[in-house]
Amino acid sequence: MPPPEPSGSDGVEHVARIHPIHVDPAYQPDWFQDGAGTHVPLPPAAVAACRGTLPGQPLVWADTDTGRLTLISLDAGEPYMRYDWSSWQRYVLGEHYRTLTRPLYTRLPFHYHRIPGVIRRAVASRLLAHQTPAGGHGGRFPGFPIEQGVELLAHVWARVNAGTGPAVAQTGPSVVLTHDIDTSHGFPWVRRTAELELAHGFRSVWHVVGRGDPPDYAVLDWLVEQGCTIGLHGYNHDNKLAFLPADRIRRRLDACRPLIERYDMQCFRSPSWFRSDTLFKVLREYLQVDYSRLDTDRSCPGGVGGCLWTKPFSLGGLTHVPTTVPFEDPLYWGCDPEYLVDFWRPKIEWLRGCGGGIVVNTHPEPQFSGNARMLGAYDQLLNVLASASSPDVRS
Ligand SMILES: [Zn+2]
Repeated sequence: MPPPEPSGSDGVEHVARIHPIHVDPAYQPDWFQDGAGTHVPLPPAAVAACRGTLPGQPLVWADTDTGRLTLISLDAGEPYMRYDWSSWQRYVLGEHYRTLTRPLYTRLPFHYHRIPGVIRRAVASRLLAHQTPAGGHGGRFPGFPIEQGVELLAHVWARVNAGTGPAVAQTGPSVVLTHDIDTSHGFPWVRRTAELELAHGFRSVWHVVGRGDPPDYAVLDWLVEQGCTIGLHGYNHDNKLAFLPADRIRRRLDACRPLIERYDMQCFRSPSWFRSDTLFKVLREYLQVDYSRLDTDRSCPGGVGGCLWTKPFSLGGLTHVPTTVPFEDPLYWGCDPEYLVDFWRPKIEWLRGCGGGIVVNTHPEPQFSGNARMLGAYDQLLNVLASASSPDVRS
Protein backbone atom coordinates (compact mmCIF):
# COMPACT_ATOMS: atom_id res chain seq x y z
CA MET A 1 0.00 0.00 0.00
CA PRO A 2 1.36 3.47 -0.80
CA PRO A 3 1.76 5.85 2.14
CA PRO A 4 -1.04 8.37 2.68
CA GLU A 5 -1.00 11.44 0.47
CA PRO A 6 0.08 14.76 1.98
CA SER A 7 -2.36 17.45 3.00
CA GLY A 8 -2.08 19.04 -0.45
CA SER A 9 -4.34 16.26 -1.72
CA ASP A 10 -7.35 18.30 -0.64
CA GLY A 11 -6.86 20.13 -3.91
CA VAL A 12 -5.63 23.34 -2.30
CA GLU A 13 -2.02 24.00 -3.18
CA HIS A 14 -0.65 27.46 -2.89
CA VAL A 15 2.96 27.38 -4.03
CA ALA A 16 4.93 25.80 -6.84
CA ARG A 17 6.99 22.84 -5.68
CA ILE A 18 9.58 20.79 -7.53
CA HIS A 19 9.89 17.10 -6.69
CA PRO A 20 11.53 13.97 -8.08
CA ILE A 21 9.05 11.51 -9.55
CA HIS A 22 8.93 7.74 -9.86
CA VAL A 23 7.42 5.64 -12.63
CA ASP A 24 5.96 2.14 -12.26
CA PRO A 25 8.73 -0.04 -13.81
CA ALA A 26 6.23 -1.56 -16.26
CA TYR A 27 5.69 1.94 -17.70
CA GLN A 28 9.30 3.06 -17.77
CA PRO A 29 10.50 3.76 -21.33
CA ASP A 30 13.69 2.16 -22.60
CA TRP A 31 15.33 5.60 -22.77
CA PHE A 32 14.99 6.03 -18.99
CA GLN A 33 18.38 7.04 -17.57
CA ASP A 34 19.13 5.77 -14.12
CA GLY A 35 20.78 8.53 -12.10
CA ALA A 36 19.60 11.43 -14.30
CA GLY A 37 17.18 14.10 -13.02
CA THR A 38 13.51 13.08 -12.69
CA HIS A 39 12.04 16.32 -11.36
CA VAL A 40 8.65 17.83 -12.08
CA PRO A 41 7.43 21.28 -10.98
CA LEU A 42 3.92 20.91 -9.52
CA PRO A 43 1.63 23.77 -10.50
CA PRO A 44 -0.08 25.97 -7.90
CA ALA A 45 -3.87 25.58 -7.63
CA ALA A 46 -4.37 28.94 -9.34
CA VAL A 47 -2.57 27.62 -12.44
CA ALA A 48 -4.01 24.14 -12.97
CA ALA A 49 -7.16 22.49 -11.64
CA CYS A 50 -6.23 19.74 -9.20
CA ARG A 51 -8.03 16.47 -8.41
CA GLY A 52 -8.18 15.11 -4.89
CA THR A 53 -7.19 11.48 -4.48
CA LEU A 54 -6.59 9.60 -7.74
CA PRO A 55 -8.33 6.19 -8.00
CA GLY A 56 -6.74 2.88 -8.93
CA GLN A 57 -3.12 1.93 -9.51
CA PRO A 58 -0.51 4.71 -9.25
CA LEU A 59 1.72 4.79 -12.35
CA VAL A 60 3.64 8.00 -11.66
CA TRP A 61 4.08 9.60 -8.28
CA ALA A 62 6.13 12.37 -6.68
CA ASP A 63 8.13 12.07 -3.51
CA THR A 64 7.29 15.08 -1.38
CA ASP A 65 8.41 16.09 2.10
CA THR A 66 5.12 14.85 3.46
CA GLY A 67 4.73 11.66 1.47
CA ARG A 68 3.85 10.22 -1.90
CA LEU A 69 1.67 12.22 -4.26
CA THR A 70 0.13 10.25 -7.13
CA LEU A 71 0.32 12.15 -10.42
CA ILE A 72 -1.01 9.54 -12.89
CA SER A 73 -3.13 6.50 -12.11
CA LEU A 74 -5.07 3.84 -13.98
CA ASP A 75 -8.41 2.53 -12.72
CA ALA A 76 -10.39 -0.10 -14.66
CA GLY A 77 -8.59 0.96 -17.85
CA GLU A 78 -9.38 4.64 -17.24
CA PRO A 79 -6.36 7.01 -16.91
CA TYR A 80 -6.33 9.83 -14.35
CA MET A 81 -3.97 12.77 -13.99
CA ARG A 82 -3.72 14.90 -10.88
CA TYR A 83 -3.62 18.28 -12.66
CA ASP A 84 -5.18 19.62 -15.81
CA TRP A 85 -2.50 18.55 -18.29
CA SER A 86 -2.63 21.38 -20.81
CA SER A 87 -2.43 24.04 -18.06
CA TRP A 88 0.37 22.11 -16.39
CA GLN A 89 2.29 21.87 -19.68
CA ARG A 90 1.96 25.60 -20.34
CA TYR A 91 3.18 26.28 -16.80
CA VAL A 92 6.30 24.16 -17.30
CA LEU A 93 7.07 25.00 -20.94
CA GLY A 94 6.64 28.70 -20.18
CA GLU A 95 8.99 28.22 -17.18
CA HIS A 96 6.54 29.97 -14.89
CA TYR A 97 7.84 27.94 -11.98
CA ARG A 98 11.18 29.74 -12.36
CA THR A 99 12.25 33.01 -10.79
CA LEU A 100 14.50 35.05 -13.05
CA THR A 101 17.09 37.10 -11.21
CA ARG A 102 18.56 40.16 -12.86
CA PRO A 103 22.34 40.15 -12.28
CA LEU A 104 23.83 43.44 -11.17
CA TYR A 105 26.14 43.63 -14.19
CA THR A 106 23.10 44.10 -16.45
CA ARG A 107 22.62 47.43 -14.66
CA LEU A 108 26.13 48.71 -15.41
CA PRO A 109 26.18 52.24 -16.88
CA PHE A 110 28.54 50.97 -19.62
CA HIS A 111 28.36 47.92 -21.91
CA TYR A 112 29.97 44.94 -20.20
CA HIS A 113 31.63 43.97 -23.53
CA ARG A 114 34.10 46.80 -22.84
CA ILE A 115 35.66 44.40 -20.36
CA PRO A 116 38.11 42.05 -22.23
CA GLY A 117 36.68 38.65 -23.24
CA VAL A 118 39.09 36.60 -21.11
CA ILE A 119 38.12 38.54 -17.99
CA ARG A 120 34.41 38.32 -18.92
CA ARG A 121 34.72 34.58 -19.14
CA ALA A 122 36.43 34.41 -15.73
CA VAL A 123 33.66 36.53 -14.21
CA ALA A 124 30.98 34.39 -15.91
CA SER A 125 32.62 31.26 -14.47
CA ARG A 126 32.35 32.75 -10.99
CA LEU A 127 28.74 33.84 -11.55
CA LEU A 128 27.78 30.38 -12.81
CA ALA A 129 29.77 28.51 -10.15
CA HIS A 130 26.75 28.11 -7.88
CA GLN A 131 24.79 26.68 -10.81
CA THR A 132 27.28 23.85 -11.30
CA PRO A 133 25.68 20.41 -11.39
CA ALA A 134 26.39 18.52 -8.20
CA GLY A 135 28.62 15.96 -9.91
CA GLY A 136 27.75 13.50 -12.66
CA HIS A 137 24.21 14.05 -13.85
CA GLY A 138 23.50 16.18 -10.80
CA GLY A 139 21.14 15.07 -8.08
CA ARG A 140 19.34 18.36 -7.64
CA PHE A 141 17.01 20.27 -9.89
CA PRO A 142 17.45 20.60 -12.77
CA GLY A 143 19.34 17.44 -13.60
CA PHE A 144 22.20 18.25 -15.95
CA PRO A 145 22.80 17.42 -18.70
CA ILE A 146 19.66 15.25 -18.53
CA GLU A 147 16.44 16.25 -16.74
CA GLN A 148 13.87 13.66 -17.78
CA GLY A 149 11.00 14.17 -15.29
CA VAL A 150 8.52 15.96 -17.56
CA GLU A 151 9.46 13.75 -20.52
CA LEU A 152 8.64 10.68 -18.38
CA LEU A 153 5.36 12.15 -17.23
CA ALA A 154 4.32 12.98 -20.80
CA HIS A 155 5.41 9.55 -22.01
CA VAL A 156 3.28 7.67 -19.48
CA TRP A 157 0.28 9.95 -19.96
CA ALA A 158 0.35 9.53 -23.74
CA ARG A 159 0.82 5.79 -23.39
CA VAL A 160 -2.17 5.26 -21.08
CA ASN A 161 -4.31 7.47 -23.27
CA ALA A 162 -3.28 5.73 -26.45
CA GLY A 163 -3.57 2.30 -24.86
CA THR A 164 -0.25 1.05 -26.16
CA GLY A 165 2.79 2.31 -28.00
CA PRO A 166 5.37 4.98 -27.31
CA ALA A 167 4.35 8.44 -26.19
CA VAL A 168 6.45 10.28 -28.72
CA ALA A 169 6.31 9.71 -32.44
CA GLN A 170 9.80 8.62 -33.42
CA THR A 171 10.65 10.89 -36.31
CA GLY A 172 14.35 10.12 -36.31
CA PRO A 173 17.12 12.24 -34.88
CA SER A 174 17.04 15.92 -35.75
CA VAL A 175 20.22 17.93 -35.50
CA VAL A 176 20.32 21.72 -35.46
CA LEU A 177 23.72 23.39 -35.10
CA THR A 178 23.43 26.94 -33.83
CA HIS A 179 25.98 29.63 -33.03
CA ASP A 180 25.82 33.05 -31.44
CA ILE A 181 28.30 35.64 -32.74
CA ASP A 182 28.54 37.94 -29.73
CA THR A 183 31.26 40.33 -30.93
CA SER A 184 33.47 41.23 -33.90
CA HIS A 185 36.12 38.89 -32.43
CA GLY A 186 33.94 35.95 -33.41
CA PHE A 187 33.73 36.64 -37.15
CA PRO A 188 37.27 35.48 -38.09
CA TRP A 189 36.35 31.97 -36.83
CA VAL A 190 32.97 31.65 -38.51
CA ARG A 191 34.11 30.35 -41.87
CA ARG A 192 36.42 27.68 -40.44
CA THR A 193 33.64 26.45 -38.18
CA ALA A 194 31.05 26.38 -40.95
CA GLU A 195 33.45 24.59 -43.31
CA LEU A 196 33.85 21.80 -40.74
CA GLU A 197 30.07 21.50 -40.56
CA LEU A 198 29.64 21.54 -44.33
CA ALA A 199 32.24 18.78 -44.63
CA HIS A 200 29.95 16.68 -42.39
CA GLY A 201 26.86 17.62 -44.41
CA PHE A 202 25.41 20.10 -41.90
CA ARG A 203 24.13 23.62 -42.57
CA SER A 204 24.00 25.70 -39.43
CA VAL A 205 22.16 28.65 -37.87
CA TRP A 206 24.15 31.78 -36.97
CA HIS A 207 22.64 34.37 -34.63
CA VAL A 208 24.13 37.81 -34.97
CA VAL A 209 23.77 40.87 -32.71
CA GLY A 210 21.53 43.47 -34.39
CA ARG A 211 23.12 46.68 -33.17
CA GLY A 212 26.37 45.65 -31.50
CA ASP A 213 29.76 45.47 -33.21
CA PRO A 214 29.25 46.04 -36.95
CA PRO A 215 28.67 42.63 -38.55
CA ASP A 216 31.05 41.25 -41.15
CA TYR A 217 28.59 41.20 -44.03
CA ALA A 218 30.98 39.31 -46.32
CA VAL A 219 31.06 36.43 -43.84
CA LEU A 220 27.28 36.47 -43.35
CA ASP A 221 26.67 36.61 -47.11
CA TRP A 222 29.04 33.66 -47.56
CA LEU A 223 27.10 31.68 -44.94
CA VAL A 224 23.86 32.34 -46.80
CA GLU A 225 25.47 31.21 -50.07
CA GLN A 226 26.38 27.93 -48.35
CA GLY A 227 22.76 27.40 -47.32
CA CYS A 228 23.18 28.46 -43.69
CA THR A 229 20.58 30.51 -41.80
CA ILE A 230 21.09 33.90 -40.16
CA GLY A 231 19.09 34.80 -37.05
CA LEU A 232 19.02 37.65 -34.54
CA HIS A 233 20.99 37.60 -31.27
CA GLY A 234 19.34 40.54 -29.57
CA TYR A 235 19.97 44.25 -29.93
CA ASN A 236 23.44 44.98 -28.50
CA HIS A 237 24.11 42.07 -26.11
CA ASP A 238 24.03 44.23 -23.00
CA ASN A 239 21.77 41.55 -21.48
CA LYS A 240 19.06 44.10 -20.65
CA LEU A 241 16.57 43.18 -23.38
CA ALA A 242 14.54 40.61 -21.43
CA PHE A 243 14.15 42.99 -18.48
CA LEU A 244 12.82 45.98 -20.43
CA PRO A 245 9.16 46.99 -20.77
CA ALA A 246 7.44 46.07 -24.05
CA ASP A 247 7.75 49.50 -25.68
CA ARG A 248 11.51 49.63 -25.15
CA ILE A 249 11.97 46.07 -26.43
CA ARG A 250 9.93 47.07 -29.48
CA ARG A 251 12.12 50.14 -30.03
CA ARG A 252 15.26 47.98 -29.92
CA LEU A 253 13.87 45.38 -32.30
CA ASP A 254 12.70 48.12 -34.67
CA ALA A 255 16.33 49.28 -34.83
CA CYS A 256 17.30 45.75 -35.95
CA ARG A 257 14.78 45.76 -38.81
CA PRO A 258 17.34 46.44 -41.58
CA LEU A 259 19.37 43.37 -40.57
CA ILE A 260 16.23 41.25 -40.08
CA GLU A 261 15.11 42.15 -43.58
CA ARG A 262 18.53 41.84 -45.23
CA TYR A 263 18.81 38.20 -44.15
CA ASP A 264 15.09 37.40 -44.08
CA MET A 265 15.55 36.39 -40.43
CA GLN A 266 13.01 34.05 -38.91
CA CYS A 267 14.78 33.03 -35.71
CA PHE A 268 16.16 34.51 -32.51
CA ARG A 269 18.24 33.68 -29.49
CA SER A 270 18.32 36.03 -26.53
CA PRO A 271 21.78 37.12 -25.33
CA SER A 272 23.04 35.01 -22.40
CA TRP A 273 19.73 33.05 -22.45
CA PHE A 274 17.85 35.81 -20.59
CA ARG A 275 14.16 35.44 -21.38
CA SER A 276 10.86 36.81 -20.18
CA ASP A 277 7.19 36.66 -21.11
CA THR A 278 7.33 40.32 -22.15
CA LEU A 279 10.25 39.65 -24.50
CA PHE A 280 8.48 36.71 -26.15
CA LYS A 281 5.23 38.65 -26.45
CA VAL A 282 6.96 41.41 -28.42
CA LEU A 283 9.27 39.07 -30.31
CA ARG A 284 6.42 37.32 -32.11
CA GLU A 285 5.70 40.59 -33.94
CA TYR A 286 9.14 40.29 -35.60
CA LEU A 287 10.25 36.65 -35.77
CA GLN A 288 8.74 33.16 -35.72
CA VAL A 289 11.24 30.81 -34.07
CA ASP A 290 12.97 31.15 -30.72
CA TYR A 291 16.09 29.29 -29.55
CA SER A 292 16.39 31.07 -26.17
CA ARG A 293 15.08 28.25 -23.99
CA LEU A 294 17.15 25.31 -22.82
CA ASP A 295 15.63 22.00 -21.78
CA THR A 296 17.71 22.06 -18.60
CA ASP A 297 19.19 25.45 -17.85
CA ARG A 298 22.30 25.97 -15.77
CA SER A 299 23.62 28.38 -18.40
CA CYS A 300 21.67 31.60 -17.84
CA PRO A 301 23.26 33.86 -15.22
CA GLY A 302 19.69 34.70 -14.10
CA GLY A 303 19.27 31.38 -12.30
CA VAL A 304 18.58 27.72 -13.06
CA GLY A 305 15.45 26.57 -14.87
CA GLY A 306 14.56 25.23 -18.29
CA CYS A 307 11.45 24.27 -20.21
CA LEU A 308 12.19 20.60 -19.32
CA TRP A 309 11.22 19.57 -22.85
CA THR A 310 13.41 18.53 -25.78
CA LYS A 311 11.13 18.92 -28.81
CA PRO A 312 9.92 22.07 -30.56
CA PHE A 313 6.66 23.48 -29.23
CA SER A 314 4.35 26.44 -29.83
CA LEU A 315 3.58 28.87 -27.05
CA GLY A 316 2.10 32.34 -27.24
CA GLY A 317 2.46 32.60 -31.01
CA LEU A 318 6.12 31.57 -31.18
CA THR A 319 7.75 28.25 -32.04
CA HIS A 320 10.27 27.42 -29.34
CA VAL A 321 13.13 25.08 -30.19
CA PRO A 322 14.84 24.14 -26.92
CA THR A 323 18.63 24.11 -26.97
CA THR A 324 19.68 20.73 -25.60
CA VAL A 325 23.46 20.70 -26.12
CA PRO A 326 25.07 23.97 -24.91
CA PHE A 327 28.36 22.42 -25.94
CA GLU A 328 30.75 24.87 -24.22
CA ASP A 329 29.07 25.08 -20.83
CA PRO A 330 31.11 22.35 -19.10
CA LEU A 331 34.17 24.54 -19.79
CA TYR A 332 32.84 26.88 -17.10
CA TRP A 333 33.04 24.01 -14.64
CA GLY A 334 36.60 23.02 -15.42
CA CYS A 335 36.00 20.46 -18.18
CA ASP A 336 38.81 20.29 -20.76
CA PRO A 337 37.87 20.69 -24.45
CA GLU A 338 39.19 17.18 -25.13
CA TYR A 339 36.60 15.73 -22.72
CA LEU A 340 33.56 17.63 -24.03
CA VAL A 341 32.36 14.99 -26.50
CA ASP A 342 32.50 12.27 -23.85
CA PHE A 343 30.59 14.58 -21.52
CA TRP A 344 27.78 15.04 -24.05
CA ARG A 345 27.66 11.55 -25.56
CA PRO A 346 25.15 10.10 -23.00
CA LYS A 347 22.83 13.05 -23.53
CA ILE A 348 22.98 12.67 -27.31
CA GLU A 349 22.10 8.98 -26.97
CA TRP A 350 19.26 9.86 -24.60
CA LEU A 351 17.91 12.48 -27.03
CA ARG A 352 17.99 9.95 -29.83
CA GLY A 353 16.08 7.52 -27.59
CA CYS A 354 13.29 9.86 -26.53
CA GLY A 355 12.99 11.57 -29.92
CA GLY A 356 14.33 14.88 -28.63
CA GLY A 357 16.01 17.47 -30.81
CA ILE A 358 19.80 17.62 -30.76
CA VAL A 359 20.16 21.40 -30.76
CA VAL A 360 23.77 22.46 -30.29
CA ASN A 361 25.05 25.92 -29.37
CA THR A 362 28.56 27.36 -29.56
CA HIS A 363 30.18 30.79 -29.89
CA PRO A 364 33.00 31.58 -32.36
CA GLU A 365 34.78 34.01 -30.01
CA PRO A 366 38.39 32.93 -29.18
CA GLN A 367 37.60 32.51 -25.46
CA PHE A 368 34.88 29.99 -26.36
CA SER A 369 35.05 27.89 -29.56
CA GLY A 370 37.25 30.10 -31.75
CA ASN A 371 40.50 28.27 -31.08
CA ALA A 372 42.25 25.14 -32.33
CA ARG A 373 41.49 22.94 -29.29
CA MET A 374 37.79 23.72 -29.35
CA LEU A 375 37.56 23.29 -33.12
CA GLY A 376 39.10 19.85 -32.61
CA ALA A 377 36.47 19.03 -30.01
CA TYR A 378 33.71 20.34 -32.26
CA ASP A 379 34.99 18.22 -35.15
CA GLN A 380 34.69 15.15 -32.88
CA LEU A 381 31.14 16.16 -31.98
CA LEU A 382 30.23 16.47 -35.65
CA ASN A 383 31.55 12.96 -36.23
CA VAL A 384 29.23 11.66 -33.50
CA LEU A 385 26.24 13.59 -34.84
CA ALA A 386 26.85 12.64 -38.47
CA SER A 387 27.17 8.96 -37.57
CA ALA A 388 23.47 8.48 -36.98
CA SER A 389 21.67 11.15 -38.95
CA SER A 390 20.84 11.17 -42.60
CA PRO A 391 21.41 14.34 -44.67
CA ASP A 392 17.68 14.91 -45.14
CA VAL A 393 17.19 15.58 -41.41
CA ARG A 394 20.16 17.90 -41.10
CA SER A 395 19.53 21.61 -40.83
ZN1 LIG B 1 25.57 35.75 -26.82
